[in-house]
Amino acid sequence: MFHLILFGPPGAGKGTQSKNIARKYGYIHISTGDILRAEIRAQSELGKRVRAFMDQGELVPDEVLLGVLREVMDREKDVNGFVWDGFPRTLVQAEAFDQVLAARGEKVNLVLALEVELHELVRRLVNRGKEDRRVDDTEDIILQRQRIYRDMTQPLIAFYREQGKFVSVSGIQPIEKVFDDICRNIDLYTQ
Ligand code: AMP
Repeated sequence: MFHLILFGPPGAGKGTQSKNIARKYGYIHISTGDILRAEIRAQSELGKRVRAFMDQGELVPDEVLLGVLREVMDREKDVNGFVWDGFPRTLVQAEAFDQVLAARGEKVNLVLALEVELHELVRRLVNRGKEDRRVDDTEDIILQRQRIYRDMTQPLIAFYREQGKFVSVSGIQPIEKVFDDICRNIDLYTQ
């Protein structure tokens, strides 16, 4: 079971690349943002609980994400691997994730980061906001999400680097070129 975390700030291209990776390698793509947005659309209890956090560009509390993680792991069995997109986003989540995987005799195999500069991230997200009408893709919320990424999520780089499984790829190249670089790394780590 291969666990790949696609890491990077909002707007780096994690969603697009995750879908392509999942298709090529037969992995399951798990976007915690997509899961939470679906809960909001369904107006479930969980959706009601997380909506305000997401609309404001804040992180949803760790215990909610750990519940989502448990559910995903129970649901998805007999798969080749997972592409984790948008999870983990805090040290608490990363440590809990390691424990959940260890209990199953598994581990995070590779953390691939997409690197893109701030001004380009903001430009992309402003455009996405116009196309997809995501409420959290307005300029002030976009900047808030980048700040949260820097403060809460970026520290995970050191965490995974210490484990020797952190690799970064330039995310400002054409989509196919980014994908090639990603595949090269996955192939290296799965052989
Ligand atoms: P994304 O689609 O990955 O950009 O996520 C959109 C929003 O969902 C984030 O701004 C958070 O409010 C929430 N979210 C998604 N994944 C997580 C996570 N792992 N931890 C906390 N909040 C999350």
